[in-house]
Amino acid sequence: MIQLEHLHKQFHGVPVLNGIDLIIDKGKTTVIIGPSGSGKTTLLRCLNLLEIPEKGKLTVGDSRVAFKPGEKLEHRTMMAIRKQTGMVFQNYNLFPHLTALGNLMEGQVIVQRKSVKEARSVSLALLEKVGLRDRADSYPHELSGGQQQRVGIARALALNPQVILFDEPTSALDPELVGDVLQVMKDLAAEGMTMIIVTHEMGFAREVADQVVFMDQGIIVERGAPDDVFGRSRNERTLQFLRKIQ
Ligand code: ATP
Repeated sequence: MIQLEHLHKQFHGVPVLNGIDLIIDKGKTTVIIGPSGSGKTTLLRCLNLLEIPEKGKLTVGDSRVAFKPGEKLEHRTMMAIRKQTGMVFQNYNLFPHLTALGNLMEGQVIVQRKSVKEARSVSLALLEKVGLRDRADSYPHELSGGQQQRVGIARALALNPQVILFDEPTSALDPELVGDVLQVMKDLAAEGMTMIIVTHEMGFAREVADQVVFMDQGIIVERGAPDDVFGRSRNERTLQFLRKIQ
């Protein structure tokens, strides 16, 4: 289970997250939507401490941290949270000098200290799962954006995290490549992977989310089941946003 309690984050004195309270249940898919600049990516990055909030509390599994302004986090606490949170980035962020297989093996061997043999076998199975077993020896520049993103997802899975955070995973892709990536994510949702996804793909959100979170100006305006948020919202800010994107 993941819990955010009254989380605050600002950049250069400008508040970006203004007291976020949220519970993410294990095995569920949470989709975060909202206008540009509303704080969606910042929220996601706070969950694995790529950004450090100034105030509030964060619980990921059995790790809990309370943030205080100006206080540095212990390295141990940071690592404990990062180990449990996999991240998939908008621009894939693959290691360019490593093959698809190498990208998956790196963290397992270096961080988790698995044997090369075990890491290789886990990696090949995951490449198979995302439909790229035959591209194991390709370098990122030899793969399409969609294939690179599927390697990115497999790489996150390879470290066996409690939750995977997706930051607009399809927004850099050509439209015809989006479907394959979304299909991999749908399969993961069906298998009960815990996922938090920032996306502008509303059809996907409606189909796959267990919980939809609508953010605006650094707060959670509304959250609920997809049918409630997309179909029955009475909140003026939500309705205005939905009208704009339709
Ligand atoms: P989008 O849908 O456009 O990606 P978003 O909802 O994900 O937007 P964020 O990327 O979280 O929004 O940004 C929220 C606000 O914080 C924006 O005004 C942005 O300019 C600002 N911001 C984000 N990261 C930083 C940073 N590292 N330094 C300064 N300001 C930042």
